[in-house]
Amino acid sequence: MGGTFDPIHHGHLVAASGVQSAFDLDEVIFVPTAAQPFKNGRTVTPAEHRYLMTVIATASNPSFSVSRVDIDRGGTTYTIDTLTDLFGDRTDVEAFFITGADALRRILDWKDAEKVLEMAHFVGVTRPGHTLEVPEGVAQRVSLVEVPAMAISSTDCRERVAHGDPVWYLVPDGVVQYIMKYRLYKNSPSLTATEA
Ligand code: ATP
Ligand code: MG
Repeated sequence: MGGTFDPIHHGHLVAASGVQSAFDLDEVIFVPTAAQPFKNGRTVTPAEHRYLMTVIATASNPSFSVSRVDIDRGGTTYTIDTLTDLFGDRTDVEAFFITGADALRRILDWKDAEKVLEMAHFVGVTRPGHTLEVPEGVAQRVSLVEVPAMAISSTDCRERVAHGDPVWYLVPDGVVQYIMKYRLYKNSPSLTATEA
């Protein structure tokens, strides 16, 4: 599951857990992006903070892990590179890529979309405010899974912190504490984000 995770929240975790159970996956790897092509124009929190929050949020689940491949490669993150770095030389792995309904709608715009769809089976999950549908022509490589509706976005979490509103129970407790410890999202320029 790729994401900016700025910050990771319970919508991400419920989606991952729901897909893991639906496909009986051995492991779910969370992969925080370096820079995200569709988020040009907004300032994203430094990768190390986003990485550590993702580690904190997933630490208690033995089958969740976090990969640094995108962060360590740097530059703009493209899923084709993520999948190649993680699974390019692995013939023993069947890869799935988990996306919310909003991200799924755009997969045909992704770099090397055809190859990306060959390298992993895509799973779109329900997300409040977005219609869940398989983009045209890719039905064989995409499945849809209904997960409990979590009307949470990282954008909303950042705005809440900036306004002094609580994010308890929207993100894991350790992530709330991490945000407070490093004073993230205070007077955040990311408030100008146009994209959720
Ligand atoms: P932002 O508001 O900054 O865009 P976000 O909440 O959309 O943050 P991302 O890191 O952009 O989180 O999303 C990573 C992946 O998780 C995407 O595939 C996205 O569709 C999915 N996702 C995010 N929030 C939810 C949610 N509440 N329910 C289901 N899927 C979600
Ligand atoms: Mg998003």
